[in-house]
Amino acid sequence: MEAHPTADTPYLLPDSALDTLPSISPRELKALHAVSFYTVGDVLRIAPHRYEDRRFSPPISTLANGESVCLQLRIYSAGWRFSYKRYYELSAGDAHDPQGGRILLRWFNMPYVSKLFAVGMLLSVYGKLRIVSGKWVICNPDFEILDDNEQAGLRLAAAALGDAAPPGSLPPPSFIHTGRIVPIYKSIPGISARSFRTLIYRLLSALHPDARWEDYDTAPSYPMTTAMRDLHFPADDATARKARMRFALSECFTRQFAVAWRRRQSLSSPGQITATTDYYCRELLSSLPFCLTPAQQRCIAEIRADMARPTPMNRLLQGDVGSGKTLVALCAMLMCIESGSSAALLAPTQILAEQHYRNFRHLLRRTDVRISLRTSDKADDSHLIIDNSPISADSSPRIIIGTHALLYEKNRPQNLGLAVIDEQHKFGVTQRQRFIQSGANPDVLVMTATPIPRTLTLTLYADLDVSIIDELPPGRGEVITALRNPSRMKRIISFLRKEISDGRQVYIVSPLIEESESSERSSASQELVHWRDTLPEFSIGLLHGKMSADEKEKAMADFASGNTQVLVCTTVVEVGVDVANATVMLINDADSFGLSQLHQLRGRIGRGSHKSYCILLSTVKPDDPSHEKLDILCKTSNGFEIAEHDFRLRGPGDVLGTAQSGLGTVRFAEWISDVRLIHRATRIANSILDGDPELQLPVHAALRRRMEGAVTQSVPS
Ligand code: ADP
Ligand code: MG
Repeated sequence: MEAHPTADTPYLLPDSALDTLPSISPRELKALHAVSFYTVGDVLRIAPHRYEDRRFSPPISTLANGESVCLQLRIYSAGWRFSYKRYYELSAGDAHDPQGGRILLRWFNMPYVSKLFAVGMLLSVYGKLRIVSGKWVICNPDFEILDDNEQAGLRLAAAALGDAAPPGSLPPPSFIHTGRIVPIYKSIPGISARSFRTLIYRLLSALHPDARWEDYDTAPSYPMTTAMRDLHFPADDATARKARMRFALSECFTRQFAVAWRRRQSLSSPGQITATTDYYCRELLSSLPFCLTPAQQRCIAEIRADMARPTPMNRLLQGDVGSGKTLVALCAMLMCIESGSSAALLAPTQILAEQHYRNFRHLLRRTDVRISLRTSDKADDSHLIIDNSPISADSSPRIIIGTHALLYEKNRPQNLGLAVIDEQHKFGVTQRQRFIQSGANPDVLVMTATPIPRTLTLTLYADLDVSIIDELPPGRGEVITALRNPSRMKRIISFLRKEISDGRQVYIVSPLIEESESSERSSASQELVHWRDTLPEFSIGLLHGKMSADEKEKAMADFASGNTQVLVCTTVVEVGVDVANATVMLINDADSFGLSQLHQLRGRIGRGSHKSYCILLSTVKPDDPSHEKLDILCKTSNGFEIAEHDFRLRGPGDVLGTAQSGLGTVRFAEWISDVRLIHRATRIANSILDGDPELQLPVHAALRRRMEGAVTQSVPS
């Protein structure tokens, strides 16, 4: 594509405002503004959703009924027709195959096309070829007028396509909608696909060849303006791919640079030195009926070394369900207490905070460590402290357990040496930043509920060091997972009877939608009634999220002690519940859960030495897309493997929740699944910061402005 600016459209730049361009109609401008397109760059940075190969087809005599074709046709005759409906029809012949017979082009509901055509014109036409009553017909084809004997027809055509140039100075005919690989964009309300494609083409044509697109050019040998043209109007598939990779690298770089910058900032800020003799840790560990696994010991050693350094710790603790992350985190908290500071554990939900609280009270019952649970009620913003000593009254070090909301409170815990963020899939990238900005500079340990795909560790968590607990405690029984159709319920029930009679316990999980409190309550109770009818000889309990804290505690205690043999529940059991004697989990409508969530649920069984069984009930057929995830669960119990599959099947937005993922809008998803691209972007980012740590060089001025802007933006006060 050649650049050809005209007198009234000088070269355009990425930040040229759309409303200064005379060729965009007020109606189109309104439609573009409605989707936040204000500049040339805003429009051009939209990547095609896909491409359609509209390169010219072989001569018509070789084509078949139903094929999508692009042909050059000469108009023989034109006029209105009527059958069941009025339509405009051109009769035309293949310009390269005059003996190939006639083709009829028909337009329904588009009266204006009658003004565009004249006999003798050469058209380029794209559409689906069909045989109708023995004739070749293409209905509502896309088209371009290539040459004509009638100047008037050409002018009209030009006007219809939005070419405002005066007659005589028309650019040579260009293929925009036909005769090439054509970009297809997600539709924008109020602007036709054709107009939008034409707009892109016109903006690209008028683009300044040396326009500056980025804060930093990651691939100078492939100029951005060229890549932009290749992206929208590629000559072939390979060119389109090459352009996409160039944009993916640049998008990835923007993210990795910000992460590298943040990491250096936090390393250069002073933190606390934690000196410990492991007094409390030893006290805790000696009271446990088991030893730490070598992997747990290694992680604790890594954390201890971090905490002893004068710079703040920023560490991610990863491990599969049941690998014993909580205990590692607790040891870190005890080191902090011993050295005279408080430690906070931030859980994503109230239920989890309460469970951690109970668990810690139990584990530390023989020590003098103080533990506070802080629950915050959004409605009245009051804080309940379930502890005899209010935090404000004395500032002696303690463990404080609460939800993430603790971070946002005015009376954040004083004297905070360590914050453990139990993220459970809700990764707030800015949360860590909050601490650093707030002046308190505690060590930070982030725990994940399930393993994270490697590419995400390299991007979202690239500013963290990583510790991985890569083994489960010994003596865990095998877990067998099977997919079953509910029609086999009879056999399943007799299996449950046998297991319970052998002394085991059973979870029955249902995907209850939390529409309203009453509906969850009633559907859970119905499920309970059903199972009490089905298994009348056993004692059956109920656990769901809308029960009061006391009810929940009682339900869990009854199940843990074996008073109830079956627990009918919602995904509340996904985390925290820990009953080694429970060996069977029956999951209703298993296909309605996410892969990682199912893995997390399954983690509730297989905790003791008995063999365990996870039964996924579902009616999905093998060709159903959600069959694959159930299949994966049956085949592997490795959380790291499952995370990769989950990511591949659903994409990062769904795995993490787009808003919470910190990924925001991703335009070129290529990089998220390409470790090499991430490594390359990271290398570029680090080499810039190695050479110019404060970004003082003029070439880095734009980067510096961006970073300073990003820091203030991400931390609203
Ligand atoms: P997760 O990593 O899923 O958070 P938890 O910390 O909840 O795992 O630990 C799961 C269970 O394993 C708990 O009951 C815990 O007490 C137990 N556990 C932790 N470490 C060990 C170990 N080294 N040996 C045996 N059991 C352990
Ligand atoms: Mg846990």
